[in-house]
Amino acid sequence: MSAPILGILGGGQLGRMLALAAHPLGVRVRVWDPDPRCSASCAAEIFARPLDAVHTAEFADGLTACTYEFEHIPHAVVEALAAAGVPLRPTEPAFAAKHDRLREKDLLSSLGISTSPYAAVDDLVQLRGAADRLGVPLVLKSRRGGYDGKGQAVVRDVAGLVAGFDKAGGRDVLAEAFIPFTRELSLVATRGIDGSFAAFPLVVNVHRDGILRLTTAPTPSAPQAEAEAIMRRLMEPLGYVGTLAIEFFDIDGQLMVNEFAPRVHNSGHWTIEGAETSQFANHVRAVCGLPLGSTAMRGHVAMLNYLGREVEHAAILTVPGAQLHTYAKAERPRRKLGHITVRCDNAAARDGLVARLDPLTPWA
Ligand code: AMP
Repeated sequence: MSAPILGILGGGQLGRMLALAAHPLGVRVRVWDPDPRCSASCAAEIFARPLDAVHTAEFADGLTACTYEFEHIPHAVVEALAAAGVPLRPTEPAFAAKHDRLREKDLLSSLGISTSPYAAVDDLVQLRGAADRLGVPLVLKSRRGGYDGKGQAVVRDVAGLVAGFDKAGGRDVLAEAFIPFTRELSLVATRGIDGSFAAFPLVVNVHRDGILRLTTAPTPSAPQAEAEAIMRRLMEPLGYVGTLAIEFFDIDGQLMVNEFAPRVHNSGHWTIEGAETSQFANHVRAVCGLPLGSTAMRGHVAMLNYLGREVEHAAILTVPGAQLHTYAKAERPRRKLGHITVRCDNAAARDGLVARLDPLTPWA
């Protein structure tokens, strides 16, 4: 039997960790990325061409299936993959909803999933209408292209409305009621081709400047069953195949969805060391039609991101149990360059290691 070949659109750190997880499964990987020395190049054949329909047949040749690490996949590429007979997993409805925050909110609402009250805002009249209806504070987000807190403004009072609207792009804005959450949680889960389902334990996420800084697990008093029910309610109508992440606001035990990501997710990186099967391995298994692995946790885990500057590798590795994951990317302000995972027998030991790692992990 010849080895399956998995195509991955995008060769950043998610593509890299997917490729690394594919190897032990005997799955070969071909990554589409314009940079032949991209992060995933350590573990995959790189197809370095512009992402367009013209090159798709060449990329698709011999692939068993294709997946992706980002949502902005041109429709023409989707059609060309279908014409080449290569299944794209997860399918287009899952990522197309992420092209526009309004579509994502409409999808969640149509499935009866609780999410913050919202309104589309294109001009100052609609802006005032949204503020009247949703109240202040108000969160304004660019509908397209924003991520990691970019293109977002929290408007604290009516006087700040216009400045916030401009910060969010001045058009095609989504206004959301400000949610006074007690903590932010996320659930990462995988659905197989046969409808099988495997969810990791809920994790607690701490953001800094709108970017994920710290993930810890397990979660005290975790509303796991409720989170899994919401996950299934989203996955099943989409016929979802692969790993999906949902970010929640926890408001005194009530869950509300902030957003979802139809892919492996930063808040699931801890699973490489902290779970029986990682989110990356389960994604590869799912999209290649293989059985899913156990998502059972191993101990108390923390994952710390670092940004902008590479860490001192030797300094990190002297911290007992610290596992370094550098993405081998060039230093650039605000860029995610790697993460560190620790795994302990109890939460106090874990939190002690996080305190040691904190000053060693740049946020620049
Ligand atoms: P997002 O890009 O939607 O994930 O937002 C980035 C971060 O902004 C979230 O992780 C929250 O910490 C905060 N945030 C986003 N939307 C809201 C909201 N409606 N109410 C309160 N905080 C929010």
